[in-house]
Amino acid sequence: MSFERSVQRPYRRGDAGPAVAEIRAKLARLGLLEGGADQLADGGSAYFDAETDRAVRTFQQQRGLTVDGVVGVTTYRTLDEARWRIGDRILFFVPARLQAGDDVATLQQRLLDMGFDCGRVDGLFGTETQLALREFQRNVGIPADGTCGPTTFKALSQLSRTVVGGRPHAMRESEAINRAGPTLSGKLVILDPGHGGGDAGHGHTLNEGALVHDLASRIEGRLTATGSSAFLTRGTENSLDEIDRANFANAAGADLVISLHVDAHTNPEAAGCATFYYGNDRLGHHSVVGAHFADLVQREVCARTDLRDCRSHPKTWDLLRRTRMPAVRIELGYLTNPGDAARLSDPAFRDTLAEAVVAAVQRLYLPPGEDADTGLLRIPALGSASGAR
Ligand SMILES: [Zn+2]
Repeated sequence: MSFERSVQRPYRRGDAGPAVAEIRAKLARLGLLEGGADQLADGGSAYFDAETDRAVRTFQQQRGLTVDGVVGVTTYRTLDEARWRIGDRILFFVPARLQAGDDVATLQQRLLDMGFDCGRVDGLFGTETQLALREFQRNVGIPADGTCGPTTFKALSQLSRTVVGGRPHAMRESEAINRAGPTLSGKLVILDPGHGGGDAGHGHTLNEGALVHDLASRIEGRLTATGSSAFLTRGTENSLDEIDRANFANAAGADLVISLHVDAHTNPEAAGCATFYYGNDRLGHHSVVGAHFADLVQREVCARTDLRDCRSHPKTWDLLRRTRMPAVRIELGYLTNPGDAARLSDPAFRDTLAEAVVAAVQRLYLPPGEDADTGLLRIPALGSASGAR
């Protein structure tokens, strides 16, 4: 998928030119840049200086993006979406290309606060938002056209301060898991090995893309043995962008998405395992089941291996944001750390990691009373528990 509004290449400190002028203008409009406006007069000479770098990092921090000071595709698009305030434009459902922006997120938050279930607050005007908006419109007696125009803006601002409901999406997600029952049988898990094809990911002596594909295959085999179905988003030769990976999981109607990566850092001391789920601290909103599953993976991996515990964190990366089911990204060690790299190059260690991930999946669907201690679930036991063998 390509975007109208995009950057040709990543921009970072030291760059100059019209694209930098536009980035600075966007940061200035968000109040993140002092004196950004005077740069507009002479866009051609705009400079990505230390102040711009700081502003980009602050913005990335606020939005749950990777904080690196670099304006790549995701940061640029998020900057572009951030300019919309509710009431700036008419909001409606566009099937082929969803409207995206802070105004959509505000609308969703207000609908949720009033108890109209529009799914989660992701800033994308999809079918659930449209349905919830219609429901709201019917309730307040205005034409239920699913379009958020002047009449609806007025009704929203009059009502949303006075009515506060629950968090329907959080409740619905948890209920879906409870209803799913204690087995993995019939579950569809999408395994997403990062990178691939021409995109090798972090390379060192080991190649990230090949390594996570190997891990995904080991997890796939074990999940299949428990009676669930597992699909990989890619083969060994190709690569997809994050949005296509999310679309694949959505089209497949998956129950769970597990994205696999290994990390790298300029400091060889950096080491350990971290997990990420959909969430945005600024909006105070996150995927409840995603956070729970991330925590389960984190605990199983750290109980079964001596990888350092780098904990789980909320992020708004496309794969986490655009998937309609709980999704977790796992960064299993650092290729730039000699200890982690040595561990990852051992197939037996990769088997242990695969078992940890499968145990976390099983634990997610176990009823609370039947939970075994972390690190104790074994794969043969999983097979019999699921009734698949
Ligand atoms: Zn990666």
